[in-house]
Parts: sequence; structure tokens; C-alpha cells
Amino acid sequence: MKNLSHLKPVKKYDYIIAGAGAAGLSLLWHILEHEELKKKNILLADRTIQWKREKTWCFWDKSLIPEKKWIEKSWESIEVRDGKQAFVFSGGQRYHCISSRRFRENIFERAHGAETVSILEADVEGFENLGNNAMIKTDKGDFSASHIFQSVHIKPESSRKGSKVFQHFRGFFVESRKEVFNPGMMTLMDFDTDSGTDRCAAFFYVLPFSENRALCEYTLFSDELSPAETYDKALQRYLNSRFGLSEKDFKVDEIEQGVIPMDDTPLAGKLNNRTLSIGTVGGATKPTTGYTFTRIQQHSRNIVKALAENRLPEPYPRSKYRFRLYDHLLIQILKNEPMAGPGIFKQLFRKNKIKDVLLFLDEKSSLADEAKIFASLPWLPFLMALGKSGFGWRVP
Ligand SMILES: Cc1cc2nc3c(=O)[nH]c(=O)nc-3n(C[C@H](O)[C@H](O)[C@H](O)COP(=O)(O)OP(=O)(O)OC[C@H]3O[C@@H](n4cnc5c(N)ncnc54)[C@H](O)[C@@H]3O)c2cc1C
Repeated sequence: MKNLSHLKPVKKYDYIIAGAGAAGLSLLWHILEHEELKKKNILLADRTIQWKREKTWCFWDKSLIPEKKWIEKSWESIEVRDGKQAFVFSGGQRYHCISSRRFRENIFERAHGAETVSILEADVEGFENLGNNAMIKTDKGDFSASHIFQSVHIKPESSRKGSKVFQHFRGFFVESRKEVFNPGMMTLMDFDTDSGTDRCAAFFYVLPFSENRALCEYTLFSDELSPAETYDKALQRYLNSRFGLSEKDFKVDEIEQGVIPMDDTPLAGKLNNRTLSIGTVGGATKPTTGYTFTRIQQHSRNIVKALAENRLPEPYPRSKYRFRLYDHLLIQILKNEPMAGPGIFKQLFRKNKIKDVLLFLDEKSSLADEAKIFASLPWLPFLMALGKSGFGWRVP
């Protein structure tokens, strides 16, 4: 990708977007789609326009995705496995994937073509309140705007001190010499018998892009991160036991890895009157699943609507109490009774329709749906977690 760092000689902007990741670029795209807002002067700032490591962003509700043509691959069938036994869901809900490379290149190209957008490669060091304006401080100078949207910084006093459980993962983009993958079906979770350790729950995740190319990831829920070789050994073993691939049968093109804190402490949605937090630091990540991408799209739409109506945009809304309670209980279970995790996930998919589970994860289910789902799960870990949460009083 071309380096697009070119700064136009305007120091005061209408909007500054600090952070050019999923949230910053999505918001920029939504603004540039709006007939009036696209005329505003915008500064997009990030410490690096070229990411060292790209990501895949997956989701099931594509209605909110800005451009459907960015979707790299959709799977009609989704499976959840327990070693050899598989629960397959076909013909209903599809699972979609966008590569961050394609997404970022498309939006940067659009930004490059827009007269109104300036792009700055700089380290953002802080934010200041200027009353009806706000300022960012960077290592390349200070810039002010009527509105700042930032996805780079968590306000120190709201930084999370809650749970210390992480969803951490590392995956191989595998190019195999043999045609072993089924490109019609993705594996959401495989609790392969050897996937876990004696201390925590773990699973494999497989996105097959063709018969011989797939992303295969190893995810753990635990309070400690693992050295790279732990994930790599588990991935090699899995590729061998499930797909019959020995080390000489495949090469690893790229690596994806990440750490998502499973923390439900609320984050400050605003740093000041004119500086709104967006994306993960704005609280858009669902703490139990890590899914964020469609939430970012919803928030971007809400922000654009508010700006167009001359209102102050709102932070990402907090979930309803009952969804916060469910997330809190699951986090407590994964923290205190980690080995109960796989049983809960397996029952969730074994006893319910995937459409209902995904609606539940999207927080769009009804109370009756939720009662059905909870009736299908092992109740003891939830009861114990409920006790530990002061019967709901300690839910943040
Ligand atoms: C590997 C991985 C895979 C994921 N997969 C999914 C998925 O499949 N589906 C899903 O819904 N969610 C997924 N997530 C969660 C979430 O969607 C992503 O983390 C998403 O990128 C969050 O968007 P963001 O804009 O908040 O942060 P980012 O995309 O990380 O963007 C933040 C930007 O800020 C910049 N930055 C940071 N600090 C500074 C600074 N001080 N100065 C200047 N710039 C700075 C960074 O360079 C970066 O470009 C995944 C997360 C990871 C880590």
C-alpha cells in the first residue's frame, strides 16, 4: 500500500479521528458516505498506517457492514466440534469474514481521493478540553477540532481493574500441499480433546478459504498469556490430527494473534465534552466473546446521525442489565472454574439452534429465549457465580 501520509495546511479541523483501525476507519467511511458531512475537514491520525500484523474481522450480521464487496468469504455451514463429534448448522445463519488489509486499503484509497481528509502518521500523546472544541497532542504537533473520535487511549481512571481473564489466541494462515479443507464450512469452536490444559479452557477455530488455504487458530481463556511456542505446538498437533498435515505438508504464510481482556468494568465513553471514545476503548467489545466489528458499525451510524442533526454524539450504549449479568457470570466462571467452560459452550451449541445462540450473543434475544438457553446449560457453575456476584449486586 502507498504511504498516504500527507498533511494539508489546516490546523483546526471539523473532526479528528485518532486511530485508524476498525473503529476509526469505519467512522471515516460512514462520514464520507454522508452528502453533507463529507464536506467537513477531517484529520485522521495513527502512529502507523502500515500494520505489522493484519487481522480478520468476522461477524454474522452483515446488514450493518458498509460495503458487502469487502467480505472476503462467507460460510454457509458452521460447525462446533467436540473432537470427533460435530454439530453442524447449515442453511440458516452465515458467517462472514473481512480481512483488515482489504478493508484498510479500500478506506485509505477513498480518504486519499477525498479533498477534505488529511492523514497524519503520529503518536497521539493526549487530549485536551477546549470547551466547544477539543485538542489532540501528538509528537508531530497539536491539532484541534469541533469533535474528536478516538480509539487509541483509555482514560486512566477508568482503566480496567476488574477481572484478569484473557481470551488470547494465535493462528496460522496455512497454505497446504494437500486439499484437506472444506471451504463450505467454518469451525467456530473445536474442543478437541487435547485442546485445553489442566488449568484453562481452550478451543480451535478454523476459517477455510479454499481446499488448501485456511486460518487455523488456537484460543485459550486464562489469566496468563502463553509463550508463542505453546500455541504453535498445539496448532501443529491439531493440523496433524484433524487434517492429516505433517509439518512438511504446509507452510505458514502469516500469523494472526491477539489478546482480548474479558473484563466487564465500564469504560469512559467520553474523555471530555468533545472527545468521544470509539471501538474497543469506547466499550464496543462484548467482554465474553470479543466480537466488536458489527457493534462498531452500529456506533458509527449513530455518530453520523447525531452529527448530521447537530447533536453531540453519544458513547457506545451500555448493555441492558440482564446481558451484563450473563456476561459477568460467564467471566466469573472462566476465572474461578475454568474447566467448566467447555461443558457450557458445548451444551450451548448442542441443545440450541445456532440462530438463537447468535441472537443471544447479539443481545437481541427475548427473556423467554434466554430462559430456554439457560435451562439447557449446566446450572451449578452459574449458581456459584451468581453467589460470588452477590446475587447480581456486584455486576458492574
Ligand atoms: C487479532 C484480532 C482478531 C479479532 N477478530 C475479531 C473478529 O473476528 N470479529 C470481531 O467482531 N472482533 C474481532 N476482534 C476484536 C476487534 O474487532 C478488533 O480488535 C478491532 O480491531 C478493534 O477496533 P479498534 O478500532 O477499536 O482498534 P484497532 O483496530 O486496534 O485500532 C486502533 C488504532 O489505534 C492506533 N494507535 C494506538 N495507540 C496509538 C497512539 N498512541 N497514537 C496513534 N495511534 C495509536 C493503532 O495503530 C491502531 O491502528 C479481533 C481482535 C484481534 C486483536
